[in-house]
Amino acid sequence: MARFTLPRDIYYGKGSLETLKTIKGRKAIIVVGGGSMKKFGFLDKAISYLQEAGIEVSLFENVEPDPSVETVMNGARAMQEFQPDWIISMGGGSPIDAAKAMWAFYEYPDISFDDLITPFNFPELRQKAKFIAIGSTSGTATEVTAFSVITDYSKGIKYPLADFNITPDIAIVDPVLAETMPARLAAHTGMDALTHAVEAYVSTLNSPFTDPLALKAIDMVLKYLPDSYDGDSDAREQMHYAQCLAGMAFSNALLGIVHSMAHKTGAAFSTGHIPHGCANAIYLPYVIKYNAKKDASRYADIARYIGLEGKTDEELINALCGKIDEYNRRLSIPRTLKEFGIDENEFKEKLQSVSENAAGDACTGSNPRSVTPEEMSRLFTCIYYGTEPDF
Ligand code: FE
Repeated sequence: MARFTLPRDIYYGKGSLETLKTIKGRKAIIVVGGGSMKKFGFLDKAISYLQEAGIEVSLFENVEPDPSVETVMNGARAMQEFQPDWIISMGGGSPIDAAKAMWAFYEYPDISFDDLITPFNFPELRQKAKFIAIGSTSGTATEVTAFSVITDYSKGIKYPLADFNITPDIAIVDPVLAETMPARLAAHTGMDALTHAVEAYVSTLNSPFTDPLALKAIDMVLKYLPDSYDGDSDAREQMHYAQCLAGMAFSNALLGIVHSMAHKTGAAFSTGHIPHGCANAIYLPYVIKYNAKKDASRYADIARYIGLEGKTDEELINALCGKIDEYNRRLSIPRTLKEFGIDENEFKEKLQSVSENAAGDACTGSNPRSVTPEEMSRLFTCIYYGTEPDF
C-alpha cells in the first residue's frame, strides 16, 4: 500500500494571505525568521487578518537559518505557555521547518529528537493545534511537504525529519511574498525546485500521482525561471506555483543523490558554504548522466515532455543535460566545483569522507541507481573537474 498526502487546502494567488481572515479558532502563534516578513509588512498584515477573524495572536520571532534544536525547544515552550490551536509559520524554509518540529514537541513534550528521526515515526499530531504554512521563497516548498531539517550544533548533525503528520493542514502560496527575493536567491531556489521535480520523476517511489506534478513543474521552471531571475513579477508568480507543484511531487516520491550530495557538501569546505540550490544545479547534469547509464527511459520522458529532440535515449539525455547547462550559464551558476572556488587540495583531502556521507544520506535510498561510496567519489571527481561520468 502506498500513500499520497498533501495539505487539506492550498490557497494561492496574489493576495491569498488574506485567507487568514477566514480562519476559525481561538489562538494562533506565528513563527517567523529574522526580519524580511516584518520588514516588508507581511507579518503585520498576517496579524491584522487574524485579529479580524477574532483570533488572539502571539509571535515567536528570529528563527535562524538552519534552525537549531534549542530554537525548536524554545518555540515549543512558548507554545505550551500560550496554548494555540493554530500554528502559523511564515517565511523561507527555516522558520517553517522549525515550526513543524516545535509542533511535535508542543503536543508531546516528553518525546525526544531520537524518537522523531526515524522516518515516518511521529506520534499523531493535531491533538492541540493545526498548522498553516506560508512560504516566501520559491524553492523548498516546505509549505506542502512532510519534511523538516533541524540542526544539532553540539553534534554537528542535521536531522532530516520526515512524516506525513507534519504535512501542513493549510498552505498559502501567495506570490507577493516572493517578489522581494533577490535575483541570486531566485536562481538558486528555482534550480532547487527543478531538481526536486526531476529527482521525484525518476525516484524509485515515483507514481501516477506524483508524475504529472513533477512534469508540469519541470515545464514551468524552464518556462519562467529566466524571467523570474530578471525580476519579472508574472514569471515570479508562476515560479512560486511551479516550486509548489515540485514540492507536492517530492513530498510523496522522495528525492535522489543530487540532494544526497548537496546535503553533505553544503558546509564541508572551508572555501565557502555552497548554497543548497546552487549545489543541486551544479550536480544535476552529472547525476543524470550517471543514473541514465542504468536506465535512461524516464529522463528521456522528461526530455520529450519539454519538447527536446533526439532519435535515441542517449541523444535525449544529452539534450536534457545541455538544457540544464544552458540555464546554469544564464543564471550565473558555475559548471564545476573547481569553478565554484573549492580548493583542490581540500577537495582531495575530504573526498572520501564526503563521498561516504553522501552515499549514506537519507535521499540515496530512492535514487534510481544504487551508488557505492567509491562510485560517489568518482562522481564528485567528475563534478570537480567537469568531466563526463563514464561508469
Ligand atoms: Fe532541495
